[in-house]
Amino acid sequence: MTTIEAIVPDVAERAIAIRRDIHRFPELGFEEERTAGIVECELDALGIEHRRVAKTGVVGIVRGALPGKVAGLRADMDALPLDERSGESFSSEVAGKMHACGHDAHTAMLLGAARVLQADRANLHGTTVLLFQPAEEGPGGALPMIEAGAMDDPRIDAVAMLHVDVRLATGEIGFDAGAVNAAADEFHVTIEGRGGHGASPHTAVDAIPAAAAVVLALQNIAARETDPLATIVVTIGTIEGGYRNNIIADRVRMTGTFRTQDATIRAGLEARARRIVENVAAAYGTTGTLEVFYGYPAVVNDAALARSFRAFLAAETSLRVSTPAPTMGAEDFAYFAERAPGLLIRHGIRSDAKGSVHPGHSPLFRLDEDALAYGIATLVAFARGVGAGRVAGGHAAP
Ligand SMILES: [Zn+2]
Ligand SMILES: [Zn+2]
Repeated sequence: MTTIEAIVPDVAERAIAIRRDIHRFPELGFEEERTAGIVECELDALGIEHRRVAKTGVVGIVRGALPGKVAGLRADMDALPLDERSGESFSSEVAGKMHACGHDAHTAMLLGAARVLQADRANLHGTTVLLFQPAEEGPGGALPMIEAGAMDDPRIDAVAMLHVDVRLATGEIGFDAGAVNAAADEFHVTIEGRGGHGASPHTAVDAIPAAAAVVLALQNIAARETDPLATIVVTIGTIEGGYRNNIIADRVRMTGTFRTQDATIRAGLEARARRIVENVAAAYGTTGTLEVFYGYPAVVNDAALARSFRAFLAAETSLRVSTPAPTMGAEDFAYFAERAPGLLIRHGIRSDAKGSVHPGHSPLFRLDEDALAYGIATLVAFARGVGAGRVAGGHAAP
């Protein structure tokens, strides 16, 4: 097997050029026509077969000459709706759109890995499926890709993704077993009372104090009702109601987010929140209603996959591997990882010297491009390790 580091410097430069091109023309979810076109062009140039799925998604397949398992590598391609203020020379040329989450680099690194794997096909065990995914930032492109058969033809045995992470220095990657981020579910609360004159509360039913009590009582879920060692966040993000200082509000509307890592806690959350909203509202003589809109589940890294990949990296590469703390962010890679053993790998990009210090989703976000070579090496290692059967998950794909 050719050593991973020996090949990657040749392709890092090309990946950086592609990343800058994508960065200048960011596209939002399911609008990634130009980006998907770049991916298809590059795959054509490399002689890699590919097909379109889920409108702007692209699935490429690298077939190794040697028998083996099937690895999936996923990169998201979409940008965010904000104006770039990073000061980079290749900043976004599209008003109101920016690659502030690093998905441009994810796409470019997967193309880099494809180049390495395809060039060394004669020595590659198994098959690598390249999953270029639209709309991670919403409404979600992973499920539509899966429903279009992206994981079935050929059937993926283990799947991985990289996400740039400013907490980790360039040259470092990190992953751990278990839940590494959170499920993100949105909820809406409405409190209905009866309006009236601010000087005569006894003639009305005031929705404001009822709403205030509901806000406080909802925190009881995290404080008193769930295991203190489990991770849960209940945030009310908006609250609106009332007309002016001397009118009693007849209605208050609130929106918020639930973040959970444990699937059982998540499953019980709606009933707990509804009990509190309805009964606290009733105690104040008002009516409370709750609506929950379910988002992405938590990403759960397969323990055996994490362990075997760590051992493979130590044996075959000089990559620095850490175990960063989980976050409460969300990521629709979770759907891939529900269907095959999966690994979300955090990819260090921090460089104080290059100003790569701002978190994702900031208009100031910058990315140390020296990190791309390490990301490509990581993806190539995963594909080779899975293909050769040396990196494997603990449960068989369903
Ligand atoms: Zn993001
Ligand atoms: Zn992202």
